[in-house]
Amino acid sequence: MANGEWGSSARFQAIREIQARSPRKIAFPTDEAGRPLRISEYFGQNTFNLEQMKRRLPKEVFQKLQSTIEAGKKLDLEIANTVAQSIKEWALERGVTHFCHWFQPQTGSTAEKHDAFVSFDGQQRVIEKFSGSQLIQSEPDASSFPSGGMRTTFEARGYTAWDPSSPVFVMESTNGKTLCIPSVFLSYHGDALDEKTALIRSMEVLSEKARDLLHLIGDSAVARVTPTLGVEQEYFLIDRAFVAHRPDLIMTGRSLVGGQPPKGQQLEDHYFGSIPSRVQAFMSEMELELYKLGVPVKTRHNEVAPSQFETAPIFEEANVAVDHNQLTMEVLRKVSLRHQFQVLLHEKPFAGVNGSGKHCNWSMGVSGPGSDEGENLLEPGRTPHENLRFLLVLVSVLRGVQKHGGLLRAAIASSGNDHRLGANEAPPAIISVFLGEQLTRILDSIERGEASGKNTDAAVLKLGVNKLPEVMKDNTDRNRTSPFAFTGNKFEFRAVGSSASPAFPVTVLNSAVAEAMAEVSGRLRAEMAAGKDRDEAILDVVREIAIETKAIRFEGNGYSEEWVKEAEKRGLLNLRKSPEALLQMVSESSRKLMSGMGVLSEAELVSRCHVRTERYIKNLLIEVDTIRQMVDTQILPAGFGYHGRLAGEVAACRAAGVDAPQAEALQKMTSLLNSLKLKREELESAFQRAESLATEEEKAAALAGPVSTRMAELRRSCDDLEAVMADEYWPLPKYREMLFIS
Ligand code: ADP
Ligand code: MG
Repeated sequence: MANGEWGSSARFQAIREIQARSPRKIAFPTDEAGRPLRISEYFGQNTFNLEQMKRRLPKEVFQKLQSTIEAGKKLDLEIANTVAQSIKEWALERGVTHFCHWFQPQTGSTAEKHDAFVSFDGQQRVIEKFSGSQLIQSEPDASSFPSGGMRTTFEARGYTAWDPSSPVFVMESTNGKTLCIPSVFLSYHGDALDEKTALIRSMEVLSEKARDLLHLIGDSAVARVTPTLGVEQEYFLIDRAFVAHRPDLIMTGRSLVGGQPPKGQQLEDHYFGSIPSRVQAFMSEMELELYKLGVPVKTRHNEVAPSQFETAPIFEEANVAVDHNQLTMEVLRKVSLRHQFQVLLHEKPFAGVNGSGKHCNWSMGVSGPGSDEGENLLEPGRTPHENLRFLLVLVSVLRGVQKHGGLLRAAIASSGNDHRLGANEAPPAIISVFLGEQLTRILDSIERGEASGKNTDAAVLKLGVNKLPEVMKDNTDRNRTSPFAFTGNKFEFRAVGSSASPAFPVTVLNSAVAEAMAEVSGRLRAEMAAGKDRDEAILDVVREIAIETKAIRFEGNGYSEEWVKEAEKRGLLNLRKSPEALLQMVSESSRKLMSGMGVLSEAELVSRCHVRTERYIKNLLIEVDTIRQMVDTQILPAGFGYHGRLAGEVAACRAAGVDAPQAEALQKMTSLLNSLKLKREELESAFQRAESLATEEEKAAALAGPVSTRMAELRRSCDDLEAVMADEYWPLPKYREMLFIS
C-alpha cells in the first residue's frame, strides 16, 4: 500500500512498465537471398496437406486415403502404416520429436497428450518410430475429461481416432515441435465424448438430406453437400502487467469489479480506427503462425470497444473451420503473451462496453462430378430453377430454426454469454431470423400467392430473386441486432459466444436443417404424387413453409423492449439465462431431432446437458470465490486503510481545535464500507443457500438468480468505493487504465 507515497503501488509500477514497452519485432520467412517470402509460399508449411500427401505417398495409397476422407470412413491399417511412415519422415525433417492426438473434449478447448517418437529396435538401440495404429488411434487416460455420466469410472477408458478430413499439423513452441493429429474422442463403447464427433455426424446427415432434396428437384449430379463456415473471432487485448494485478481476469476471464471510466466506447473512435502499433505487431505474428498452420486468416480490425479487436478467416468446410478456430484461439493466447498482452476471449470482460461474439457465417456448398463444384446453395441464382432451389433451401433453414430455436439457444448458452445476450449491445436471447427487406418482400408476395400457377418460370422471374445478389451485396444495413441474419449468400449466427467452440452450435444448425430438408422432400413428393408438376410443387411448398415459419422472422430492432413483448405474443422463447436455456437440450423435440438424425443418442444428448450445466455451476462458483477473496483481501483492507487515514486526520484537526474538511469524506467512507460489508454478507448467505440445494439444476438456477444478483450488488458497492477513494489506495488496475493504456 502506497499510503501517501504516490506512485509506489504495484498498479502504478505496472503503468510505468507498460509505457516503456515497444512493439516486438520478429523475423519473417525469407528465401536464401534474404528476400521476403510471399504468404502463398509458406501458407500451410506446418501441415501435412494435400500437396505433401500427393508428393510423398505412393499413388494408390494417396488415392485410397482421398476416397476414405471423402467417404468419411476409417482408414485400414495397411494404408495407415504407409501414411504414418510418410508423415514421420516429413515431421522428422522439421525437427519434430513428439506426436499427439489433438482433440476437443467438452471443455470448450483442446486436449493433447504427447508421446515421443523414440522406441527401441531389436538390439536395444533407440530409433524413431511411428506406426499406422499410432496414427489412427490412441488411448489417453480419459477419466478426467467431462463425460456427463457417459462413462462410469470403471470403464474410464476413452480413445481418440484420427479424423483424416482435417490435416495433420506441427505445433511449434519455444523449445520443440509437436506433430498434432486432429482426432475425435469416443468412449470405450463408441459414444461421443467430444465436440467433433457430433459435428462430423451432423455434416454427414445434412449432406444426405440435402442431396436427396436436390436430386428430387432435378439436380442429380450433386454427390455431396458440405456445410461451410467462416468464423469471425472477437477478442480483447489487455497488457499482462495489468492482468497480473487482477485476480478476477486471471481466474474468471472477466472483471468482477471496476468502475466505469469517464469515456467508454461512446465516442466511437476505436471501431475500424488505426490499429495501435504494439497490437499491429502482435497481429502480424499471430497471422504468420496461423498461415504456417494453414489457417486462411483474411480480415483484421479494431472492434467497437476500446482494446477490442477481430480476426476472421476465409470460410472452409465446417469441421476444418472448427479446428482452425480452435487453433486461432490457441495462437491468439500464445502469441499475445510474447507481446506482453493477455488475450481475453470471454464474452464480457468489461461491464459497460461491448462484449465479444463469434459470428458463425454458415452456408452449404455442393460437390460431385458434373455438378457446379463448390456452388453455394444460399446464393440466389440466375435462372428460374436456381431461384426456386434457393427459395427451397431458404425455407428449409427457416423451418429448422423455427422448430429448434430452443436447442439453438441452448447451444450458445454459457455463463459468459449470459452477460452478452439480451444486453443492449448483442443479439437478444430470443432466436429469430432476419432476412432483409428485399427477401422479405419476395417471401411476402409468395405468401400472398402472387407467384403460383402453371407458368412457374414467369412467376419466379417476376419475383426478382435473380436480382437479389446485387441488392444484397450493397445492403449494408443488415440487421446487427438479430441473432441469426441472412447476409446475402449465407446466414450469420451472431449469438455464438467468443470463447465457445463453434462445434455444437453448428452441429445443431446442421441437424435442424437436415431434418427440415427431409420434411421438405417429403412434402414435395406428396405434392408431386398428387399430380402437381415439379416447379409448381416447389413454389407451393415454399409458400406453405413461409407462412408456417412467419413467427420467427423479425426485421425490427432486436434490442427493443417492444420486440420482447411482440416475441412473447408470437410464442417465441426468451430464455435469458443458461440454466433454463440448457434444459432445452433435453426437450422432446431436441431429443427427437438429434437421435432421429443420428447425430447424438438420447444418452449422449443428456450427458451433454449435464456437462454444460456442470460447467456453468463451476464457472459461477469460481466467480463467487474470486469476488469474495478480492473483497476480503484487497478491497476492504484498502478501504480500511483510507478510512483510517481520514479518521486520523480528522482526529488531528479536532485535537488542534481546527475544522476538519475531511469529516464528510470520512462519513461517506464509513457508510460505504458498512454497506459493502452488508452486501458481502448477503452474497454469502445467498451462496450458502445455493450450495445446500440438492440437484444440479436447482443449484444452477440459484446461481443464475439470487447469487448473481447479490454478486452484481456487491460489485456496485465496490465500484462506489472506487469512485471516492484516493487513487493511490485503490489496489486494482482501473478500467480507464486497462482499456486505454497500452
Ligand atoms: P462481415 O461484414 O460480417 O465482417 P465478411 O464479408 O467479412 O462479413 O465475411 C464474414 C465471414 O463470412 C468470412 O469468414 C467469410 O469467409 C464468410 N463467408 C463468406 N461466404 C461464406 C459461405 N458461403 N459460407 C460460409 N461462410 C462464408
Ligand atoms: Mg459479421
